[in-house]
Amino acid sequence: MTKVLIEVDLTQSPYDNENIHNRWHPDIPMAATVKPGEDFILECFDWTGGQILNNDSAEDVRDVDLTQVHFLSGPIGVEGAAPGDLLEVDILDIGTLAGSQWGFNGFFSKQNGGGFLTEHFPEAQKSIWDFNGIYTKSRHIPGVEFAGIIHPGLIGTLPSKKMLDEWNRREKELYDTEPDRVPALCNLPFAKTAHMGRMTGDDKETAAAEGARTVPPREHGGNCDIKDLTKGAKVYFPVYVEGAGLSVGDLHFSQGDGEITFCGAIEMAGWIHLRVKLIKDGMEKYAIKNPIFKPSPLTPNYKDYLIFEGISVDESGKQHYLDVNVAYRQAVLNAIEYMKKFGYSGAQAYSLLGCAPIQAHISGVVDVPNACATLWLPTEIFDFDINPGGEMPKRQPKDEADLPLAKNPPQLKPFEK
Ligand code: ZN
Repeated sequence: MTKVLIEVDLTQSPYDNENIHNRWHPDIPMAATVKPGEDFILECFDWTGGQILNNDSAEDVRDVDLTQVHFLSGPIGVEGAAPGDLLEVDILDIGTLAGSQWGFNGFFSKQNGGGFLTEHFPEAQKSIWDFNGIYTKSRHIPGVEFAGIIHPGLIGTLPSKKMLDEWNRREKELYDTEPDRVPALCNLPFAKTAHMGRMTGDDKETAAAEGARTVPPREHGGNCDIKDLTKGAKVYFPVYVEGAGLSVGDLHFSQGDGEITFCGAIEMAGWIHLRVKLIKDGMEKYAIKNPIFKPSPLTPNYKDYLIFEGISVDESGKQHYLDVNVAYRQAVLNAIEYMKKFGYSGAQAYSLLGCAPIQAHISGVVDVPNACATLWLPTEIFDFDINPGGEMPKRQPKDEADLPLAKNPPQLKPFEK
């Protein structure tokens, strides 16, 4: 029987679980230790720790406390792991918890988080997704059902103190270039809502004040939001501290490349079954600076796509120089405008592109001045023909249901622990 090393109770606050943490710091004690070759199961809260509810209001997305995220399960120590090693992690399986067969997707308010298309969708909205085995559909987006590509949005090893200091230095430098920006350029350490696992007292206070936020991906992996780290994938992580300290969370039932909606993919609580091995001195042996991985033999088998191109000329007609971010935004906007012709609201289309197994590809990055990016929309997920030339549906899905929207500015509640 595989051991469950970390259990979560979704009716309790993640702050009351000492095997959970929400910052990166080398001094966070291991929640458990395993031997190389062992497999184990970790249960995980959803990334917000239960702040988003299964209902038809987006006020929870609007008012979410983003200083609390992400709640991670771990760290798991690996006997014999030393700085310079590679930690080989097999993602053996991922699943939902009993009584929690649903997930959420949303867009944050521009005043509280924002997102990839926040200028076009400045108010908080949400869609709820029900799971039926490997399939999912949403009462807020009719006409579509698909197989999820289930994966952890966030998985990584503990940083060394030297690496943590470097993260904090470079991110503060960026932050200071535009400190009043909304949303902020990045998220600096914030002690008040830090959950440092089983740390207590002065040690905890010190670590909480400098613990790195979990928002960006970094050299250790972290919040990469790579949909292809799905069950069956194998990931090689750099090791920076004795014992490695592997933590995981932010489980996604499914996600499109880019996680464009930011809140986020189809977010869920659940469990993950992992196996770890060590490659001694693997970082130098294979010149590893960032994680590398092998894909799963299991992925949703969608073969037919409608592919949208975008170039680095923005919505106002301004020319950008080889900017892939601008080019991909245009591909996304082109896909949304196309889907609106089939009866979807803009919000329904945007949400679906954040949730379904859509692909993003970078095409040319040398043909000055325009970068070219493409968005691949799987056509088989729709219950009607979405190709050009087909008969357009008479049904107007947007008339049946739309994403709940929360007006008014965010009402941030004082943090109580
Ligand atoms: Zn997520």
